[in-house]
Amino acid sequence: MKLLLIEDELSLHELITGALGKEGHIVESAYNCASALDKLSAYYYDCILLDINLPDGSGLTILEHLKRSSSKANIIIISARDSLDDKVQGLELGADDYLAKPFHISELSARIRSVVRRSQNAGNMTWSAGNVSIEDVTNRLFIGGKEVSLLKKEFDILKYFIMRPGHVVDKSVLAEAIWGDHIDQSDDFQFVYAQMKNLRKKLTEAGADIEIKSVYGFGYKLILP
Ligand code: CA
Repeated sequence: MKLLLIEDELSLHELITGALGKEGHIVESAYNCASALDKLSAYYYDCILLDINLPDGSGLTILEHLKRSSSKANIIIISARDSLDDKVQGLELGADDYLAKPFHISELSARIRSVVRRSQNAGNMTWSAGNVSIEDVTNRLFIGGKEVSLLKKEFDILKYFIMRPGHVVDKSVLAEAIWGDHIDQSDDFQFVYAQMKNLRKKLTEAGADIEIKSVYGFGYKLILP
């Protein structure tokens, strides 16, 4: 899972990033409201860990922003302010859970799993964009109602974009999400270009009405019909 930790305590970043990284999660960091909002406007996260007391404002403003933008990300508030007000207000604003500091990492990890599982069970099991849809559990792909098969990496790339319509995806972020963290040691992205070329060709041949466009200097973006 890809997580965003919004928190100004550096020691907590080290602890959480290290522990959740070992469990196979990718943890991105933001240390204040401004950088968190920047990241949230550019990237998708499966789960957001949100501190309330931030140096440039309240984490509740980030919650309001996410609610306005109808974000599907799961949100867990992690706050030292153990006041009932914050908790109630946070949950009213759409947070999925609340964990008071200090907490054990194993507790945080369990809450993340539970929040994500809950949202997957309650959520729509089909991801769609234009005439393209993917069944979440079976990973079957349909274009214009007909089942289409792709190679594994092509499928993973397509699913990644369908889950993030309209987001500009940096090619290094895409590479890390599909091929794994070790990929940042690679100095060119020829393998991304090659897979993308094959995927686009297959989408066109199958009559897809969506398009994965290059965004010059950044990466790619899924364009809806
Ligand atoms: Ca804080």
